[in-house]
Amino acid sequence: MITLESKIDLLLRLREDTRKGLVKLKIFTIKDLLYHLPSRYADASSFVSIANLSDGQNATIRGTIKKIESKKSWKTKTALSEAVVEDVSGSISVIWFNQPYLAKMLSVGQTVELTGKVSLYKDKLSLVNPSTREEKTLPIDSHDSLFANTEAGVLTPLYPETKGISSEWFSHAIARALTNIEDIPDHIPTEILKKYSLPTLKNALIYIHSPKKHSDALSARKRFAFDEIFKINLARALEKQNLQKEKAYSIDTQKVDIKNFVSRFPFPLTKAQEKSIGHIMEDLEKDYPMSRLLEGDVGSGKTAVAATAVYATVMNRPLKHPFSMDVRASSSAGLASKQLEKQTFGSLQVAYMAPTEILATQHFESFIKYFEHTGISIALITGSGCRKFPTKVASSQTPWTNISRTQLQKWIANGEIPIVIGTHALIQKSLSFKHLALAIIDEQHRFGLGQRKSLAKKDSHSPHLLSMTATPIPRTLALTIYGDLDLSLLDEMPKGRKQIETQIVLPNKREEVYEKVRLLLKEGRQAYVICPRINEPDPELEKAVIAKSVTEEAKRLQKDIFQEYKIGVLHSKMTKDQKESVMEDFYNHKIDILVATSVVEVGVNVPNATSIIIEGAERFGLAQLHQLRGRVMRSSHQPYCYLFADAKTDKTKERMKLFTEAKNGFELAEYDLSLRGTGELTGLKQWGISDIGMEALRNTKLVEAAQISAKDLVAKSPELSDYPLLKQAVKSYEQMHFE
Ligand code: ADP
Ligand code: MG
Repeated sequence: MITLESKIDLLLRLREDTRKGLVKLKIFTIKDLLYHLPSRYADASSFVSIANLSDGQNATIRGTIKKIESKKSWKTKTALSEAVVEDVSGSISVIWFNQPYLAKMLSVGQTVELTGKVSLYKDKLSLVNPSTREEKTLPIDSHDSLFANTEAGVLTPLYPETKGISSEWFSHAIARALTNIEDIPDHIPTEILKKYSLPTLKNALIYIHSPKKHSDALSARKRFAFDEIFKINLARALEKQNLQKEKAYSIDTQKVDIKNFVSRFPFPLTKAQEKSIGHIMEDLEKDYPMSRLLEGDVGSGKTAVAATAVYATVMNRPLKHPFSMDVRASSSAGLASKQLEKQTFGSLQVAYMAPTEILATQHFESFIKYFEHTGISIALITGSGCRKFPTKVASSQTPWTNISRTQLQKWIANGEIPIVIGTHALIQKSLSFKHLALAIIDEQHRFGLGQRKSLAKKDSHSPHLLSMTATPIPRTLALTIYGDLDLSLLDEMPKGRKQIETQIVLPNKREEVYEKVRLLLKEGRQAYVICPRINEPDPELEKAVIAKSVTEEAKRLQKDIFQEYKIGVLHSKMTKDQKESVMEDFYNHKIDILVATSVVEVGVNVPNATSIIIEGAERFGLAQLHQLRGRVMRSSHQPYCYLFADAKTDKTKERMKLFTEAKNGFELAEYDLSLRGTGELTGLKQWGISDIGMEALRNTKLVEAAQISAKDLVAKSPELSDYPLLKQAVKSYEQMHFE
C-alpha cells in the first residue's frame, strides 16, 4: 500500500541519475514528491523546435545546455559567454555579449528557456543575447507569467528541475503517485477550508499538478499558500501561549528614576523612542516574559532604548525570588541589611548579545557612558577576550581592564556583574547567570533561531526578551514570522541629522564621482565601495564570484584612481577573524576606503565614513540598498550615496527613482514586495518560506485570515490537542524550516 510516507522506490524504478537528482532536491518520500510543485505552466506548443529556427526570427526555445564557457573576444576585448543548447530536434549556439556572469550562473545539463532573436554569427545560426528564464523563481502573483502562452493549449506543468530529472518525469511520477495512493488526509480543519473556500488537500494536489483550467491551478495555489502561512502562524501562536505560562522576574519600573537616567543622554528622545520605552516598561512589570521586537532603521536610536530597559532592570533586586525570604531568614545576623542583600542575591542581570566583536565592543563603550554615574559593573565577553568596567587598576589608561574569562564567569555566576555585553560567546555552556532577567539581541536577524533561544533559556525564571533589528520588512511578513513577538517601531529619525544626498550616476560621470569622493577623503573622511550581488543559484559559487569582484575592484581603484589612499577589502569568503580585523582597521581609520560586499550591512558604526558608492545597484533590493546607505548616515558630516546602476529598463529607472526619494526602510520594503517580489527582500531565504508562501505575503487578506484562524484555533484548543494531524503538520514544518 502506498502512503504519503512511502519511499519513492516503492512506486517507481529509479535510474541512478534520477535518484541523485531527487536527493539533490531533497525528495525522498511520496509526500516530498507531491509537494514538489510546478513553478508555472506552459503550452508546450509555444516553444519553437531548434531545427525549425530561421534567421531573423524572434523565438522562445526550451532545451538543455550542452556546453557553456565565457571568454574575451580577442578583437574588441569584450567579455562574451557562449553556449550550446539542445532539444530533441537539434542544437544551436547561443552568445551573450558583456554578460560574463551568465556563464557562471548557468551550468551544463540545466534546462533553460531562452527568448531572443535568431541571427547569423560567424556564419552560424545563433541566438544572440537572449533573455533566460530561471525555472527556480516563481513569477509571483502575476498570472500572466504563471501561465505563459497557454491561451490555446493544454496546461503543462513545468517543475523546478535538476540534472537527470525533467518536468516530464515529474508529471509522470506524480500522476502515478496520485492514482496509487490510498488516502490523503487533510490537516486543515474542514470548517476553515469552508470559510475561505479552499480545496481539500487531495483536490489541491490534483489541481496543481494537472489543472484542467487556470482557475484550478489558482485555487490550489491559494490553498497551499494559506496552508503554509497558517502553519507558521500556528507555530507562533503556540509559542506565545507557552511563553505566557513561564515565569519571569517582574520588574518594578515605578521605583526606578527612568526620567533622570534618560535626561543624561546628550540628546532628547524622539517620540518613537519614548513610546517604545513605554511599551517595554509595561512588559517588564509582568510576571511572564516579555517578547518584543524593536524595529527601526539604521540610526533610529535603538541602543538608547535598550539602555533604558537595562537600567530599569538592573536597578531592581530579585526580591521577588521565591526563596528570598528563606535565604534571608537563615543568614547570619550582624551584617548590614543592604550588604546582606547584595551578597546573597546580587542584582538582576542583563545579557546583551551582538553579532560581531566590533559591535559588542561599541555597545560596551556606549554603555560605560550611559552607566558611569550609577557605579554598576559592566562586562564585555567576546571570542578574543573579556573586559570589566569599572577598573580598580590605578594605572589603567581606559575606564575598563582586561580580565580572565574564568574570573568573569565566576562573577557572572554569582551575580556580581549585572550587565554583560558580548557576542555569541554569551551563549556558551560555561557561562551561567545568577538572575538573568533581561536578554537583548541586537541585529537579531543575524542570529539563528537556536542561538536566540539559547540566550533566552530559562532557569527558574525566563528572561524578558528584547530583540532588535534594522531589517525593514513588509507588514505581512512581519505579521507572519514575528507573530509571537510584540512589535515596537522606531519610525522616526532623531532630529538634526543631515539628509543624505542620493544620486544615480550616469556611466560618463563616474570620474566626477571619484573626484567628489577624493575631496571628502582629503578632508579626512572615509568611504565605502560596495560590489554587486550576483544571482547565483549556488550560494558558495556566488560568494566566490563576489569575492573575486571585490578583490579586483579594490586593485583597480588602488592602481588607477585612489593611489594615495589605503584600501581594504571585506567579503564573506574571509574568516570571521579576518573580517573583524579589517572592520577594526576601518574603524580606527587605518583604512580610508573599504571595498566590500553587502556584509557591511551589519550595524557597525563608523561615523567618519560619509560616502558610499554602490556598484550594480540595480541588483539589490531597495530595502537592502537602504540598509547599505544607512552605513553613512550616522555622523554630523554631510553623507553621500552614489549609485552606479545599469538603468536601461523603465522598471529599473522607476525603482532607482523611488530609492532616491524614499526616506524610510519600511516604505521601500513594501515597494520591493510589489515591484520585484519577496525573493528580492533582504535575507529572506533564512525564513525558509517557500516561493508559494512568499507569494501569499502579497495578499494582506490571506495573511490576516491565516493569523486570525491560527489565534482562534489555539485559543479554542490549547496546544491543538483536538487537532492531532494539524499539530503534527505544524511540528514537521517547524523542523524542516526553522531548526
Ligand atoms: P541604531 O538604531 O542603528 O542601533 P544607534 O542606537 O546606534 O542606532 O544610534 C545612532 C546614533 O544616534 C548614536 O550615535 C546615538 O547616540 C544617536 N541617537 C540616538 N537617539 C538619538 C536622539 N533621540 N537624538 C539624537 N541622536 C540620537
Ligand atoms: Mg544598532
